[in-house]
Amino acid sequence: MSQSFTPISSLGEFGLIDRMQSRLADIPRSENLIVGIGDDAAVYRAGDTKLHVVTTDVLIEGVHFDRTFIPTSYLGWKAIAVNVSDVVAMNAKPLYATVSAGLPRNFSVEMMDGLYDGMAEACKAYGMELVGGDTSTAHALYLSITVIGEVDEKDVVFRRGANVGDYLCLSGDVGGAYAGLKVLLDQREQLENMGDSYEPDLEAFQYVIRRQLRPKARLDVIEGLKKAGVRPTSMIDVSDGVASEVHHIGLRSGVGATVRVPAVPFDPETRAVADQFMDDVDAYALFGGEDYELLFTVAPEDVQAIDDMEGVSVIGTIEEAAKGVRAYSPDTGLMPLHPAGYQHFDGPPQTDYETFDGEEGPSFDDTEFSGDGA
Ligand SMILES: [Mg+2]
Repeated sequence: MSQSFTPISSLGEFGLIDRMQSRLADIPRSENLIVGIGDDAAVYRAGDTKLHVVTTDVLIEGVHFDRTFIPTSYLGWKAIAVNVSDVVAMNAKPLYATVSAGLPRNFSVEMMDGLYDGMAEACKAYGMELVGGDTSTAHALYLSITVIGEVDEKDVVFRRGANVGDYLCLSGDVGGAYAGLKVLLDQREQLENMGDSYEPDLEAFQYVIRRQLRPKARLDVIEGLKKAGVRPTSMIDVSDGVASEVHHIGLRSGVGATVRVPAVPFDPETRAVADQFMDDVDAYALFGGEDYELLFTVAPEDVQAIDDMEGVSVIGTIEEAAKGVRAYSPDTGLMPLHPAGYQHFDGPPQTDYETFDGEEGPSFDDTEFSGDGA
């Protein structure tokens, strides 16, 4: 008798998480646990007024990165930074990291030095310590990082706190990491086609390549918000793209939102890349992943303070759930905004990088529309 198996890819990323969660539902829940699965990091009580936050992420060669175009020191940096980003998204300060590394047989001591130098540099930059881990041989380079952070209970920010009337805010600029990936993939293709006669030209794209290979966690932004006396009502980091993250906040907070497309900032270099590939730069900004900026909401009384902050943009408003998540631009008017972010396990790992592409252009999707179209 043959048994039939269900491929994991049939679940999709969210279905997969729901499925895992259902298998774990019988574990008795501690009264000190404040948030488990379903936010950027788990949060639990660690004292009378202190909360700890904990997050973990894996980076796997061939799925999350391509070793041919990321120096190992950048990879070490990025592995720490993406975890710090999740801690920061809870309005928390990172404290400790552990690192487990699977090293393939062709990995050299020099490459390992680079990897750990990069991690050390990131730990110093974010004021945290690397306190342990594990190593093993592996078929491909593999990193699993856990970061623990701390926040006063009165300061913690979840995805679930956005209210109708709040303003939607974004730090920095977006779409750059995706533009950087486009450039790198294109250069790799040229190299494969033309062989050694090809001279990569990366000079013109320093900024976007750096956004892709060496992203920054925005600890400085939560420090700036604190200084300005602003506590966001909800927050998430932009790992899967602005559109996808707005949906996460909407879902967890039980609200809808309108994103003003012209207000979503991108760097001129991001535009140059989009132009070169004849893509829509707004699609890069809305759907490109891995920028690790912070998307957050603030109460109306705080919007002036946000306006006064450098490097933070107000990109939209929070509305009733029935209106759904929409995008507004003068050209198209009000349109439903599809999440369209990265969907892990959705296809062969290599194409995971490229969920959207010029041809497919899943910018705005009518089928999801449930609002009033006003
Ligand atoms: Mg996150």
